[in-house]
Amino acid sequence: MSSQRVIPSIDLLLQRPVLARAAGRHGRARVGAIAAAAARTLRAVLADPSASPLTADAAAQWLEARVLEELDRSMTPSLEPVVNATGVIVHTNLGRAPLARAALDRLVRTGGGYTNLEYDVAAGTRGHRHVHAERLLRDLTGAEAALVVNNNAAATLVVLAGLAAGREVLVSRGELVEIGGGFRVPEVMAQSGASLREVGTTNRTRVADYAAAIGDRTGLILRVHPSNFRMEGFTERPALDDLAALARRFGLPLFEDLGSGWLGVDPIPDALRAEPSVRASVAAGVDLVAFSGDKLLGGPQAGIVVGRRESIDRVRTHPLVRAVRADKLAYAALEATLALWAREPARAEIPVYRMLTLTAEDVDRRARSLVARLESTAGVTCRLVDGSSTIGGGSAPGSALPTRLVAITVAGMPAGALDARLRAGRPPVISRIVDDVVVLDLRTVAEEEDDALAQAVGHAASR
Ligand SMILES: *Cc1c(COP(=O)(O)O)cnc(C)c1O
Repeated sequence: MSSQRVIPSIDLLLQRPVLARAAGRHGRARVGAIAAAAARTLRAVLADPSASPLTADAAAQWLEARVLEELDRSMTPSLEPVVNATGVIVHTNLGRAPLARAALDRLVRTGGGYTNLEYDVAAGTRGHRHVHAERLLRDLTGAEAALVVNNNAAATLVVLAGLAAGREVLVSRGELVEIGGGFRVPEVMAQSGASLREVGTTNRTRVADYAAAIGDRTGLILRVHPSNFRMEGFTERPALDDLAALARRFGLPLFEDLGSGWLGVDPIPDALRAEPSVRASVAAGVDLVAFSGDKLLGGPQAGIVVGRRESIDRVRTHPLVRAVRADKLAYAALEATLALWAREPARAEIPVYRMLTLTAEDVDRRARSLVARLESTAGVTCRLVDGSSTIGGGSAPGSALPTRLVAITVAGMPAGALDARLRAGRPPVISRIVDDVVVLDLRTVAEEEDDALAQAVGHAASR
C-alpha cells in the first residue's frame, strides 16, 4: 500500500491515546486542525512517485509526532529572555532597559487586579491617569508638570502637534537627525502638522540664526539631542540658556527632545560626564523636555514630557495624546523606577545605572569566576582581555566604559560557529566577535545569570 490511502482519518488519529490526551488539554478542534494540516503535508509527500512507501502504522506514528511537535511549537512564546553578553547596556534590539526588581514587583501587584488608574479614591469620582508618576517626575527634574505617553517618538509627536501644528518649527540643520528604528526628525515633524524651518548649517548654528528665522508663522523652537552621533572639529551650537532667552524674548515655546533621559543626579557616572541631563535643561529654561523611559532612566518603554504647567496642559488636551497614552503597567513600572532614582542608595538597584557604574575591576572579578568554571570543559580556552562596553540605544555617543572581556576559543570551532551555537542555546546567549574571537562582556549580564551563562557556554562548546 504505497499510496496516500495509508493516511488515517482525523477521527481515527485522535483516538490514539497520546492525541486523545492532547485534545483534552488543547481542545479537540485545535488538535484536529493541526492533525488535518499534518495529513495534508504527508499526502503531498506521498504523492511524489519516488517517495518510499509507508505502512499505515508508520504514517499514523509520523502524524502523531508531527502534531505533538506543532502543538509544542505553537505554545512556545516568541518573545523570550536572552543573555546580553555584548556589553551594550541600552541594547535596542535586546529590549533596552532590564527592569529593577522593585518595578517587577509593582507590575505583579498592580497588573493582576484593578487599580485607581483613572479613579480618585478619596473623592469617589473619575480621576486622571496623568497624575501617576507626576509628583516623582517633578521632584526629580525640577519641572512644574509632567506627561507620560507610550514612547519618546510619540512624546515628540504630541508636543509638536499640540504646540505647533499649522505653524513653523525652527530646527538647526545640525539636529535633523535620524535615531534608530526609523525616527527621523523631519518625518515626525511632517506627521505633527507643523512645518520645518531649517536654520544654521550642518556644523555651526548660532542664536542669531534662530533669531533671523523668527516670523509671524513661527510656532516653536525645537532642540534635538544628536544622541547617536558626535560632531567634531569646526562646530558650534548655542548654549541652552541663550536659546531659552531668545525663545522667551519672542514668546515662543522651546522644546527639547533629549532622547536618553539622563536625570543628572549626583554622583555622575564617568561615562555620562558629557551627557546632557533633564534637570539641567529644565533649569536652563526649556519649556518642555521629552525623553524615553527605557534608555538611561532604566524603566519601562515610555515617553516622558516634563516642563511648564501651561505648556503641558496645552499638549495634554490634544486628541493624539489619547491614541498614544501609557497603560497601567507602564505607570506602575515607571513609578517604581522613579522611586529608586529618588533615593541615592536605592539607585544601585536600577540595572542600567548599576551597569553604568560597574568598574572594570567589578567586571574582572566575575569574568575570572566564569573562566574558572569553564576551565574543566574540554577543548575550551579562555583569556581575559581589556575591552570596552558601550551605552548604546542612542545615548552618550562615543562613550566607552573600560571593561574586561572573556575571550573564548574552542578547538576546531570557528568563532562564527561558536557564536551561532551560543545563540541556539536556551537561553540564547548574544555575544560579540572581536578579531575573530567570541568575547563575552559580563557588564551587561546580571549576576543571577552567571550560572546559566556558564552552563550555556559549556554546552555550546561541547559536541
Ligand atoms: C531614542 C530617541 C528617540 C526615540 O525614543 P523612543 O522612546 O524610542 O520612541 C527620539 N529622539 C531622540 C533624540 C532619541 O535619542
